[in-house]
Amino acid sequence: MGSTDMTGARIIDGRSIAEGLRERVRLDVARLRAEHGIQPGLAVVLVGEDPASQIYVRSKGEQSLAAGMHSVTHRLAADTPQAGIQSLVSALNADPAIHGILVQLPLPAGIDTAAVIAAIDPDKDVDGLTVINAGRLSSGFPGLAPCTPLGCLILLRETLGELDGLEAVVVGRSVLVGRPVAQLLLAANCTVTVAHSKSRDLRAVCRRADILVAAVGKPGLVRGDWIKPGAAVIDVGVNRVPFRDPVKAAAGRTKVVGDVAFKEAAAVAGWITPVPNGVGPMTVACLLRNTVTAAKRQAGLPAEL
Ligand code: NAP
Repeated sequence: MGSTDMTGARIIDGRSIAEGLRERVRLDVARLRAEHGIQPGLAVVLVGEDPASQIYVRSKGEQSLAAGMHSVTHRLAADTPQAGIQSLVSALNADPAIHGILVQLPLPAGIDTAAVIAAIDPDKDVDGLTVINAGRLSSGFPGLAPCTPLGCLILLRETLGELDGLEAVVVGRSVLVGRPVAQLLLAANCTVTVAHSKSRDLRAVCRRADILVAAVGKPGLVRGDWIKPGAAVIDVGVNRVPFRDPVKAAAGRTKVVGDVAFKEAAAVAGWITPVPNGVGPMTVACLLRNTVTAAKRQAGLPAEL
């Protein structure tokens, strides 16, 4: 689950927890195929040629195949009209071999992203982005939760076990991350505070937290003295910054850091996710898990969350 860092906090090893989750998904897929003749199917839609999106889409395809799933990637030209994207989504909604649909974001400029997402059947919305799934999550109905937030919750459960009654502070209130993380923590019986750019005395708010989730997009915003001793810190931030080393910086080299000042925070926290290799690896693993959940539900079988 984690190892002890020299600084004191134990590191929450997202890579190994994600690997464990992928293995559980693989076993679930094998069982569904053997006992029910169902092979969970994931369709990924990529519009245009954004290089980062190409890498993500390839990885999603490879990981779903490795889990034993049926996997299709639809690559559409960047100038595909809105109606063309939405008619592909409608065809996938109607395809019984497809249980999960993911439209890779961002879509090219000029495309109405909200309309494309709204076209996805909520029961196949394995990215958890439709308003229907957001409503289900906040109303306590079974639905599909967004993958990164779900990954945060799984990391916390594997690290702390039951979360009942814990004080949780989420910094960030985006529809993609902060809000669904807060809803999942509430569903797990935490006492939840959601902070944002207008919050007053963020340090004092954060210092109350047994669980602190930072989903802001500001490198090193959360300092060591914002953290309650022993707290579990989940750093969702992915920020590209220049190296401090002037030679590397002059060469234009960058590195990825989180929203938490890691060294300072690790000296105070009980548990902490590193960046990279904390929350990041959980996202695709949760996409696979959501696809299995969707396949089970579509077949009328019981499924978690
Ligand atoms: P976002 O849509 O830009 O939202 C950022 C949130 O942070 C907003 O709610 C904003 O408040 C709040 N905020 C901004 N400055 C703040 C400050 N100084 N103090 C307190 N709150 C502040 O970003 P996002 O999509 O949620 O993503 C957050 C981070 O997570 C990014 O670094 C992103 O790259 C990363 N991310 C990682 C993964 C992954 O690991 N797989 C997935 C998704 C996102 P207001 O609402 O008041 O503006």
